[in-house]
Amino acid sequence: KRIPLIAGNWKMNFDHLEATYFVQKLVWLLRDARFDYSRCEIALMPSFTSLRSVQVLVEADRLKIRYGAQSVSVTTQGAFTGDVSADMIAHLGCSYVIVGHSERRKYHPEDDANIVDQVRAVLAAGMQPILCVGESFEERRQGIELDFAVGQVHDVTRDLSDEEAARLIIAYEPVWAIGTGMVATPDTAQEAAQAIRDDLRETFDAQVADTVRILYGGSVTSRNAVQLIEEPDVDGFLIGGASLDADEMAKIARLT
Ligand code: 13P
Repeated sequence: KRIPLIAGNWKMNFDHLEATYFVQKLVWLLRDARFDYSRCEIALMPSFTSLRSVQVLVEADRLKIRYGAQSVSVTTQGAFTGDVSADMIAHLGCSYVIVGHSERRKYHPEDDANIVDQVRAVLAAGMQPILCVGESFEERRQGIELDFAVGQVHDVTRDLSDEEAARLIIAYEPVWAIGTGMVATPDTAQEAAQAIRDDLRETFDAQVADTVRILYGGSVTSRNAVQLIEEPDVDGFLIGGASLDADEMAKIARLT
């Protein structure tokens, strides 16, 4: 059985003081609710500038919250001004790195080749990539949304070994649903997650397809999460806006 993952992508929000305040608030809320951490994994993806503060807090109090980064350099070290390597991120106790988010694909020159290299860098550093895929409104209008999202996963992952592929997490995030309030229906999310899992089953060992968690992302809130999490192939969420609200995150985690 796959353990659900509720992941908050904070994007470019919260400085380190706000980040540590948030983590404490979320943990208090979950403690009050007697939340069972073995039921569901909770992860937060702050900015690079907050990772050290979050690490210190999590380690000092042995909090059962995981955390990660929102992107990574494809190179290991050297003259790459402004870049942050996978080892640097791993050394801060990160479990995850978001790779290929649609905002990175749009505002930075991140193409499939670059995203493959990021996935490899994250895996080599012992962390798990959260690979984001999903069609825009245009592909959906043309009726090619499933081929598009499955193709994005396939192109990036096909050369991985079974062992590497088993450590992937995939986030299906249709671009039209991100930050728009237009959440995918449970059927739509399930259909895409199932198509992605079917493709993994063809490309890799069947066990890989059964292991990889597929998240849904795009305008998730505590209200719409209730039904989405019921879908058999939806193993959790990658949450943007609602992840900036500790009450919302605690509520969503408690649905699992
Ligand atoms: P919203 O939840 O704000 O739509 O963002 C989704 C997202 O991009 C998560 O990575």
